[in-house]
Amino acid sequence: DKQRRIRAERMESLGQLAGGVAHDFNNLLAIILNYADLMADEVTPDGAADLARIRDAADRARTLTGQLLLFAKREPTQVETVDLNDVVTDARELLSRSIGGRVRLTCRPDPGPLPVRANRGRLDQILMNLVINARDAMPDGGDVVIATGRTSTHAEMTVRDTGTGMTAEVKERLFEPFFTTKPADRGTGLGLSTVYGIVTDAGGQIGVDSSPGAGTTFVIRLPLAPALSPVVLGAGGSS
Ligand code: ADP
Repeated sequence: DKQRRIRAERMESLGQLAGGVAHDFNNLLAIILNYADLMADEVTPDGAADLARIRDAADRARTLTGQLLLFAKREPTQVETVDLNDVVTDARELLSRSIGGRVRLTCRPDPGPLPVRANRGRLDQILMNLVINARDAMPDGGDVVIATGRTSTHAEMTVRDTGTGMTAEVKERLFEPFFTTKPADRGTGLGLSTVYGIVTDAGGQIGVDSSPGAGTTFVIRLPLAPALSPVVLGAGGSS
């Protein structure tokens, strides 16, 4: 438990550092992109090709700093009561498009309401990160199943894939910021640390079940909120 707290604190300070750097970098990249655009009209065709490369690299850098900013939680977010089922159902289309044709996505929402207190955009982000990781773990295609459910106190969301799975070493480190096994132009290592931050901020827990060749299952638990559920509200009391 102490180790976990130390790890969380380390992530927090890494996050602050990354956020500060990302913020300044974003501004500098905006300047680079601006001047590249201005120059576009003035250069020879050869120069234009070089300029396009500069633009491209700066664009990619901006995507990266955008991820860093999200990880560092620089942007304030509003917490609301959302139904986890709606989050899954609404994201389905976009997720399907993001994983391409070879991976099949199935959603199995719980029949009942699953109100949780969280920021909607952040929940979308969790799903996107987990599903993209699942896709990356299945280069030859496979299945992703997103299911929701509940315990007496928590709403639960599982994302399961039939991909490569993970070794114990990877499993040990996967929530660390900047830990990645992907090539540098594909992975930032910020996806799962961001997910971890969102889940713990919302008072929840995240767990993973995975072994090489056996696929991977992520389980996220968030406290059930009373607001959308009259039954719980009526029985509530002050516990
Ligand atoms: P990134 O995706 O940029 O590498 P993440 O923090 O999202 O960063 O993931 C960290 C690492 O965890 C990945 O590089 C990969 O090795 C491993 N990983 C995450 N999700 C899965 C999965 N569904 N199946 C197998 N490995 C995974």
